[in-house]
Amino acid sequence: MSFLTLTNVSKFYGDTQAVSSFNLSVEKGEFISLLGPSGCGKTTTLQMIAGFESVSGGRIELDGRDITHAKPNTRGLGIVFQTYALFPHMTVEQNVAFGLEMRKIPAAERRDKVAQALALVHLEKHGKRYPREMSGGQRQRVALARALVIQPPVLLLDEPLSNLDAKLREEMQFELRDIQRKVGTTTIMVTHDQSEAMSISDRVVVMEAGHVTQVDRPLSVYEHPANRFISTFVGKANLLEGSVLRQAGDHADIDAGGMTLTLEAVDSGLRSGAQVLLGLRPEKIKCVAAGKGRCDGQVSQRFFLGSQWMYSIVTPLGELTVLIANDGADMLEPGQSVGIDWNDHNLRLVSANRTTAAT
Ligand code: ATP
Repeated sequence: MSFLTLTNVSKFYGDTQAVSSFNLSVEKGEFISLLGPSGCGKTTTLQMIAGFESVSGGRIELDGRDITHAKPNTRGLGIVFQTYALFPHMTVEQNVAFGLEMRKIPAAERRDKVAQALALVHLEKHGKRYPREMSGGQRQRVALARALVIQPPVLLLDEPLSNLDAKLREEMQFELRDIQRKVGTTTIMVTHDQSEAMSISDRVVVMEAGHVTQVDRPLSVYEHPANRFISTFVGKANLLEGSVLRQAGDHADIDAGGMTLTLEAVDSGLRSGAQVLLGLRPEKIKCVAAGKGRCDGQVSQRFFLGSQWMYSIVTPLGELTVLIANDGADMLEPGQSVGIDWNDHNLRLVSANRTTAAT
């Protein structure tokens, strides 16, 4: 049995359905991200797990106990909010000790636990400071120490890194994951940042308009997005429209832009003539000499991203985005003709018009 289970959980605000039939089983020690665009129901879901929002339907179980209607303080969960919500009139130590005092932990044990929690987040020397004397990243770590000190069965994080600048945010992503691995606390994090979700989670739950549309390991979400929205929300994707010429075994020939493209590992039958949408990641496209690829294209734009160059290339398949590693030389020039190539196994079926497809 899973450690935390949400079964058909839903939430209505008046007539608005914020969360619809949410199902998820979380194993002990897992790091799960709820990922999706603004308003898709991530925070509402987290709030229902925390008990700050009532559920309109469904069931939440923690370690075999039905907590669907339990009061927040009886769930004993650790929570870190986007704004950190530290007490400004308390020192760092007092902030971290707060949950232990509420639980009437004796003073000596409290001191030990606070010291351990501050050491975990590398703030052992800052216990006497006030939150206003700390940087954003340090405050975020105080909030994390305060949530972890009570040794909660589940840690809930609501966009915990969104107030940090880009560089600090990246550092904190690794630190957060490192701390979570050390303490082994089952963690659920809300984020709308796909790279954050991909880099630190064991599994990602993608939400759209109140619905869960994919639950998978980060690499699977990236390599096999369940639909058109996910293929562009998680990373960049070139979407190519085509129609099925024929399928033989698990290979299909697709007509796109007057070219015949091969689609591998097709698991369901595609009838000839069915309209399909194909996905090709920008970094999976290779640029070769003109005349040497599957087709030629012309570079229309070039952007320098540091470790990579991003090009827009006009081809018979439409304007493609291409990412090429920056090797310090040999960048393509706008106006230049290039050959375009890719390995067949990198072309993905994103969706098919099933009204004309055999099942
Ligand atoms: P964001 O990333 O912007 O925080 P989110 O994915 O966390 O978005 P929620 O905050 O869960 O989304 O909101 C989901 C839907 O529920 C939205 O349409 C929102 O307007 C609505 N909603 C949230 N809280 C309330 C409330 N207290 N009363 C009415 N509607 C609400």
